Parts: sequence; structure tokens; C-alpha cells
Amino acid sequence: MRAAALIAAAAMDKVLSAVREGITTSELDEIAYHYILGAGAKPSFKGYGGFPGTACISVNDQVVHGIPGNRRLQEGDIVSIDMGAYLHGYHSDMARTVGVGKISPEAEMLIRVTQESFFKGIEKALAGNRIGDISKAIEEHARSNGLGVVTEYVGHGIGQDLHEDPEVPNYATPRKGPVMRPGLVIAVEPMLTLGTHKVVVAPNGWTASTKDGSLSAHYENTIVITENGPCSILTIA
Ligand code: MG
Repeated sequence: MRAAALIAAAAMDKVLSAVREGITTSELDEIAYHYILGAGAKPSFKGYGGFPGTACISVNDQVVHGIPGNRRLQEGDIVSIDMGAYLHGYHSDMARTVGVGKISPEAEMLIRVTQESFFKGIEKALAGNRIGDISKAIEEHARSNGLGVVTEYVGHGIGQDLHEDPEVPNYATPRKGPVMRPGLVIAVEPMLTLGTHKVVVAPNGWTASTKDGSLSAHYENTIVITENGPCSILTIA
């Protein structure tokens, strides 16, 4: 899983370094596709439930599952790239949100707090804790910064399948979820907004956007629970 994750991470680096005004989301997707194939892996998302891209590329108010296409990025946009690589029977999954050129202070805060909330969450990703401990930490950090927490989509177990049990919500629930054991691999992925937590899905059946049109950011890594001490992040080299 580490090997699959490192291919995803390297593909992400390639894509992020290509983000600039004027590039289309399908051009970014091509970069990911060719990198992953060249590394001997397969894109985890392509064909999943019929998804056509290597990456989900979601711009501005799009939260997740944006389909790569002929949309050209513009100065001031924020763009979320979500993808994984499949190698030797195992998946990986990660997401990053970055700005295109100069972005607003609010957009910068959103991207920063989304990333911070991931790291707050995984401080609780310890053997013996419950999944809900991660969820609560993410939600608290998001809310204390005045951000909306998307509830429609959640993190997840990952392994031979892209989405496995357990679910890893980004908000506290009365049921705190299973106890984490060493070797458990999960994708932790806060999706936060500058406004509502509510999303609407486009007629294409995929692209989820905020209901109020507010900006949204996404930050995700595949992590493994260790025997002692902090979790290990597989999708950061
Ligand atoms: Mg995921």
C-alpha cells in the first residue's frame, strides 16, 4: 500500500506543479494518467462506478467528484485534485486543494484550515481510540474557524477495494465508530466550505457543489494505524 500511495503522491506533485491559469482540467488529468501508468500502476478512480477520469478535479464551489473536461482554470480559482493509484492489488487515495495565481484571503484560509483539520484529526488516529475521535477533532477545528463541514461524503477504509469499512466522518456522531487497531488503513479527508454544509449533485450524476455556491476545499491522505505512537501517512513521501 505504501508503494501504491507513493505513486499517487508523485503523480499529485506533477499535477500540482502544472496548475496555472489557462490549463484545462482534462490536461491536468492527462498528466496524472500518464504518470501513474508510467509508474506501472493503474488509476484507482478511472472506471470506478463509471467515473471517466484519472482524477476528480473540482473547481471553486465544486466539493468533490468534478469530471475533468475543457474548463480552463482562471486566476483566483481554487482547484481540488483527488486521485489514487492501484498497484499489486491495493489502492491509495489522496486529495489536495491549491489556488490558481493570487486567491482571496478567505480562500487561503479555507485551504489552510482544511489541511490543518486533517492533521488535527490524525492526532487521534491511535490504536485503541475510536474512529469518532478523528471525526470530532476535524469538526471542532473546522467549526472553530467558522467553516462548514460537508456531511454527505466521508472518509473510508481502503485496501483491496477503494472504499471499505469503516466510514470516517468529518463530524462527530453519537455512535463513535469502531476501535482502531494497528494495521488499519483509512483515508481521512475533510471537505470544508466557506458557507453551507449542503451539497447538490449535477445532472451528470457526479459533480457535487455547495448548495449556496460558497468555495470548498478538500485535503486527504491514506494513513495506517501503528502499534505505538502516531499513525503513518502513506501518501506523503
Ligand atoms: Mg477518499
